[in-house]
Amino acid sequence: MRRPDVVVVGAGSAGCVAARRCAEMGLKTLLLDKKPRSEVGQKVCGDEISKSHFEATGIEFPKDQEISSPIAGADVYPPSMSNELKVRGWTEFDGWTVNRLSFGQRLLNEAIDAGVAFRAENRVGSPILRKDRVVGIEYKDKGEEKKTYAKLVIDASGFAGTIRNKLDHPLVEKTIDKEDVALCYREIVKLKMPMAEPEVARVLLGGRVAPGGYAWIFPKGMQEVNAGVGIAGGSGKGSPKSHFLKFKKEYPLLIRSKVIDAAGGAVPVRRPLKSLVADGVAFVGDAAAQVNPIHGGGIGAGMRAGIILGEVAKRAIARKKLSAKGLWHYNISYQTNFGKRLASLEIFRRLLQAVSDEDMDFGFEKRILEAGDLMAANRGDGLSLGTVDKLRRFRRGVSRLSLLRDLQKASGLMKKISKTYDAYPSNPSALEKWNDSVLAIIESAEFG
Ligand SMILES: Cc1cc2nc3c(=O)[nH]c(=O)nc-3n(C[C@H](O)[C@H](O)[C@H](O)COP(=O)(O)OP(=O)(O)OC[C@H]3O[C@@H](n4cnc5c(N)ncnc54)[C@H](O)[C@@H]3O)c2cc1C
Repeated sequence: MRRPDVVVVGAGSAGCVAARRCAEMGLKTLLLDKKPRSEVGQKVCGDEISKSHFEATGIEFPKDQEISSPIAGADVYPPSMSNELKVRGWTEFDGWTVNRLSFGQRLLNEAIDAGVAFRAENRVGSPILRKDRVVGIEYKDKGEEKKTYAKLVIDASGFAGTIRNKLDHPLVEKTIDKEDVALCYREIVKLKMPMAEPEVARVLLGGRVAPGGYAWIFPKGMQEVNAGVGIAGGSGKGSPKSHFLKFKKEYPLLIRSKVIDAAGGAVPVRRPLKSLVADGVAFVGDAAAQVNPIHGGGIGAGMRAGIILGEVAKRAIARKKLSAKGLWHYNISYQTNFGKRLASLEIFRRLLQAVSDEDMDFGFEKRILEAGDLMAANRGDGLSLGTVDKLRRFRRGVSRLSLLRDLQKASGLMKKISKTYDAYPSNPSALEKWNDSVLAIIESAEFG
């Protein structure tokens, strides 16, 4: 393809979906990945994805060998490992663990079938700029230096943000703060014994197991799991691998399990970038910080964005308006919907990270938060405690007023940030003022 309309950098879940949508909209689309074709889709991940993302995007459910296990519910454990919260019957949570490679290969094949030109083993180096506008990319095609010009460049390169991190543009957040990153390590292991509940995910909270994060055990069949630890980035928290190995020695289910695969990774756990576009460029997936800040799930969040972006790209190219302003509808569409949900969950993440293990144990014992609250928060409905509810919880939690106060404060801030996202600016010139108000809310989200 000599002169594509769109070039997409990175064939992860977000890049494949965005590229496919662009092609379906009739755009000449080139998709590049540094990996060999047979490895596209392979990714260090917890492998869990909820059905809701497929229902929202119209992307076909995983099937056959793409599915490792169906997931129907979770047990969430506090540090004491007792009084766990059993999340059952919430359909928006249920889904699958997937075989990442098969699933990723399917997304790639769907993009190619839609007309996307795909080039494997093409490592993108940097954007080509004309003044402030991105007009193409420089890359190495199996070692050979090349350039491609396009009307729109989409950075879908994942956590690396290969294009984003080279742009000096007032709309672009080049870097992500360390504190807003989860550092993870996970193993896929074969268990000694089959599981009693092979469709239930387990999540373990607390500073001892995973400072500022959590440990997970996601079933991948009767006798296989994806187990890992994610901890808050920033100094002094140790390595996720050492936390995981300690956890593995202590957690009965994992003892004497056989390692099938082991690796580490990182994921952004904050609100999406303040702007998902700049002149001639758009960001999607981890490159756009489109990840759920409390559990680090980003496959669905990026696929949702990819669909919107393809449609916006079509309109912008038809009107020959590839400036940030011309692409702005992607911001409005995503930020006022799913983006707002992610932003409100950043507040919740900050609350969870500030609660001591003792308070967390107390909260679970007294059921200060219930499964419905977690689901409502995840859905983007905040922590909406009614008056009767408040009284009931107040009675149960009266000996830890500070915890109740923090919960109340988080609930208020989640509402406030949601409203701010509802009022996402209609054009780039108002972005800085809007972002200042977001930052003021984030900065006030101090607890404990
Ligand atoms: C340990 C861990 C556990 C997780 N668990 C879950 C989970 O259970 N559920 C969930 O939903 N999410 C989970 N996530 C997050 C999820 O994996 C990501 O949010 C999601 O994969 C992001 O998709 P993406 O397409 O944006 O990026 P990626 O999947 O990272 O894809 C980026 C692609 O870009 C390519 N690329 C990068 N740089 C270049 C370059 N310079 N040139 C060309 N190509 C390039 C890469 O090869 C890759 O194919 C987890 C993350 C981690 C680290």
